[in-house]
Amino acid sequence: MLLLSVLLAACAPPARQSAVDLAGRKIRVVTTVGMITDVVRQVGGERVTVTGLMGPGVDPHLYKASEGDVLRLGTADVVFYSGLHLEAKLAEVLERMQDRVVTAAVTDGIDRSLLLKPEAFQGQPDPHVWFDVSLWMTTVNIVRDTLVRLDPGSAELYRSNAAAYLLQLEELHRYVQAQAARVPPEQRVLITAHDAFNYFGRAYGFEVRGLQGVSTASEAGTGDVRGLADFIAQRRIPALFIESSVPVRNIEAVQAAVRARGFEVVIGGELFSDAMGGAGTPEGTYIGMVRHNIDTIVKALLAE
Ligand SMILES: [Zn+2]
Repeated sequence: MLLLSVLLAACAPPARQSAVDLAGRKIRVVTTVGMITDVVRQVGGERVTVTGLMGPGVDPHLYKASEGDVLRLGTADVVFYSGLHLEAKLAEVLERMQDRVVTAAVTDGIDRSLLLKPEAFQGQPDPHVWFDVSLWMTTVNIVRDTLVRLDPGSAELYRSNAAAYLLQLEELHRYVQAQAARVPPEQRVLITAHDAFNYFGRAYGFEVRGLQGVSTASEAGTGDVRGLADFIAQRRIPALFIESSVPVRNIEAVQAAVRARGFEVVIGGELFSDAMGGAGTPEGTYIGMVRHNIDTIVKALLAE
C-alpha cells in the first residue's frame, strides 16, 4: 500500500486535463477488460491511444494491479472500467485515482432495475452485463459522453463513431435473437464453468447453470459438481461448455460425474466469458466474441 501511494503521488498530473491540453495530442485512455477496450477504440477512433490492462484469457475477478499498471493508470487522461464489482481487486486502486484522473464506470448508464442479483452473490449485482447486447449498448453512450466532455473539439467524431457502432450492436442483438430462436425452448439450457451468462439467458431465453458461482474467486465444491451432474443427467442436456478464462478441469469434473450416472454429455466448445480472444482474431472483438459464443452454443445444442 505504501508503495502504491508513493507511485501515485509521483505520477499524479497537477490537475485534470482541459480541452486545451489535449488539442495537440491523442487522449491517453486506460481500460480494464477487453470488451471495454473495444468500445473505446470504436468510439475514440484516431483521437485515442488505448491501453487495455487485461488481455485474452485474463480473469477480471482475480486481477490485481501490477506496479506498471499503477503507473499507467496514474498517467492516463481517463480510465474506463466496468464497475459492478467486476474488477474486485482493482477497486481500491481505482478509488485512489479518482481525484487525479477522470474515471468512468461504463455500466453506470444501465437502469439499476435491469440488474440481476443472483442469490449466490449476496445482494450484489451480477457484473456480466455484456452478454445482453442491448444492455452493453449503454456503455457506448458513457464512453462517448465522457470523451466529449474531455475533448469537446472532437465531439462530432465521437458522436458519429458511437452512432455507427450502436447500429452494428443493434444488428448483433438481432443476430443472437435469431440464432437462439433456432433451438427449441426446452433445449435452451446453457451450462458453463461459472455464472457469466445470466444476462445472456434472460435476454435470449436460455436457462443458465454455472458450476462456480458469479465470481471465479470461490472454488467449485464437490457438492456443486454432484448437483450439476444430476441436473444434466436427468434433463439429458447434450452439451456443456468451457470458458476461455476459467480452468478446464472444473467442467471436466462435471463431465466425468455425468458419465458415472450413465449419460454422456459432450463439451460443446469454448465460450469467451470474461475476456475476449487474441488480437487480430475474429473473437478479439466484442462483436466477434458474442457471435462465436452464440454460434458455438446453437451448434452444440442442435448437435449440428
Ligand atoms: Zn465472471
